[in-house]
Amino acid sequence: MRPFDLVLSNAAVIDGRPSAVPTPAEVGVSDGQIAAVGDLSSAARQDTIDLGGKVLAPGFIDTHTHIEMASIKGHPDRTALTAQGVTTTLTGADGFGWVGLAEESSNRWWEDTAAIYGPLLDPLPRWDTPSGFLADLRKGSLSDVVPMVPHNNVRAAVMGDSQHKPGPSEMKRMHVMVADWLDAGAVGLATGLDYLPGRFSETNELVELVERVADRGGVYASHIRLLDAGRDGAWVEAAEVGRRTGAGVRIAHERLDEDGLALLDQVNQTADVTVDSYLYPAGCTSLAFHVPPRLLAHGVTELSQKLTHDEALASELASHLEERLTGGVDKQVIVAGTTSGKHEGSTLGSIADEWGTTVGRVAVELLKHEMPCGVLIYAWQAPDVSWDAIMKRTLADPRTLIASDGVYVGSKAHPRGFGTFTRVLGDLAREKGLISIGDAVHKMSGKPADAYGLSDRGIIEPGRRADLVVFDPETVTGTDDYDNPRTAPRGIEMVLVAGRRIGVEKE
Ligand SMILES: [Zn+2]
Repeated sequence: MRPFDLVLSNAAVIDGRPSAVPTPAEVGVSDGQIAAVGDLSSAARQDTIDLGGKVLAPGFIDTHTHIEMASIKGHPDRTALTAQGVTTTLTGADGFGWVGLAEESSNRWWEDTAAIYGPLLDPLPRWDTPSGFLADLRKGSLSDVVPMVPHNNVRAAVMGDSQHKPGPSEMKRMHVMVADWLDAGAVGLATGLDYLPGRFSETNELVELVERVADRGGVYASHIRLLDAGRDGAWVEAAEVGRRTGAGVRIAHERLDEDGLALLDQVNQTADVTVDSYLYPAGCTSLAFHVPPRLLAHGVTELSQKLTHDEALASELASHLEERLTGGVDKQVIVAGTTSGKHEGSTLGSIADEWGTTVGRVAVELLKHEMPCGVLIYAWQAPDVSWDAIMKRTLADPRTLIASDGVYVGSKAHPRGFGTFTRVLGDLAREKGLISIGDAVHKMSGKPADAYGLSDRGIIEPGRRADLVVFDPETVTGTDDYDNPRTAPRGIEMVLVAGRRIGVEKE
C-alpha cells in the first residue's frame, strides 16, 4: 500500500454520526479523501500531524448562509464560516442568486439584494450561466461550494417583477434554468417566499419546479411563506410541496418552540421535513422586509425616492411599520447595517427617542436614506429561561440541524454569521449541557450531509472527503456579542478542506 499523504495522529475522533463519543484514533488522508481510520501507527506516510488528543470531527456543512458575495468580493468576512470549522457552504439561501438577469433588470436586482449581500460591485458582474457564477464563487470561497437552485433569481430572470402566474413559455424557461443549475451540481431548490419575487409565486409553480429537482434526487429548501400564510400555513405549504413532489423539505431558520414542534410532527406525517436553526434569540433581515410588496414592486431604490417626495405615502408607511416593528419587540430592533454606516448598533427605539418621533417614522427615514444596505436585527424574545427551553427542544430533536443564516452586511452584523457553530459546541453543549458534543457535531456534519444528499462527506470514514476540523472541546466558543459580532471564535485549531489545510485566522 502506498504511503498516506497525511496521518492525523493522537485524535479524539467524533465521526459525525448521532450520539458519537470521542474515540482515540488516527485518520489517514490521501488524494483529498479519508483513506483509513484506526491504529495507523505502523503505516507509511508523507506527513504526520499530532493533534495532542484534541477532537477531530467532520468539517461542518452550512446549508443556509448568505456568504457568497463576501467570498466573491474577497471581503474579510469570507473567513467567518471556515474560522468556525465550516468546510462546505450551500449557495442560494432564500432563493437568492444573480444568474441570467436581463440587462435592464440587473441593477435593480442587485440593489434589492444589497441588504443581505452588501454594497454593489462596480462594475456589476454578469453571469449568464450557473457554472460561470460558481467558478467565480469557488475562486473566492475558502470552503467547498455546493449549489442550490435559487428560485427568486430564476423567477426574476424569466419574469422580472411580474406578479402573475407564469405562462407556459415562462414556465418552460424556468425549467431550462433549473436544469442548468442541476447540471451544475445543484442538490435542491431554495425559495424565499417572504421576498420578492418569490412572494408572488403560487404553490403550483413551486411544485412544478421542484418536481424536476426531485427527479434528480434534490430537495426543497424554503424560507417559508410566513408573512402571507402565517406560520401554520407556511409549514403546511412547504410540506405540500414535499408531498406532491416526493422531495425532502428543508425548512430554514426555524426553532422548536411548542408550536414549532407540533408543526414538525404534523407535517412529517405527509413529507420528510427537517428544520435548520441558528439558535440565537434574534432574527436578521433587510430593512425593507416589512414593507408591503405593492410598494416594492419597482425596487427598493425607487421606493426610497418616492418616500422623499410623497409625504402621504411616507406617513402611511410609517404607521404600517410602527405596527410591524413595535408589536411585542419594542426597542428591540437593532440597526445592523446602513449604506452610510450611521446608526449601526442603535435600536430603532433609541433613535426614535433621540429624534422625538416614532419607530415607524425612523424606519421610513432609514428607508429613504440608508438603502440599499439597510439591515436590521429583530430580537424576538429576551434570552430568558423559556429561550433555553426552546433551544433544548430544538437541539434534542433528530429532525433539526445547525445552519448559520449568516448575513455579512454592516458593522453590527448579526453574530450568528461569526459564531453559530462554535457557540453550539461551547456555550450550548459544554456550558449549558443542552446537547451532547457528539450530537452537536452530528447536526453540523452527518445530519446536513444526509438531509441534502451529500453522501461524499459529513462522516469520518474511508472514502469520504477529507473535510475535517480539529477543535479543543474545553475552550471552543462562539460569539453572541451584538456589539462586537466580529469576535473570532475560539478553540478551532485546524481546518482541512479535501485534505488541504486552510488558514482560519482573520485576514
Ligand atoms: Zn431566510
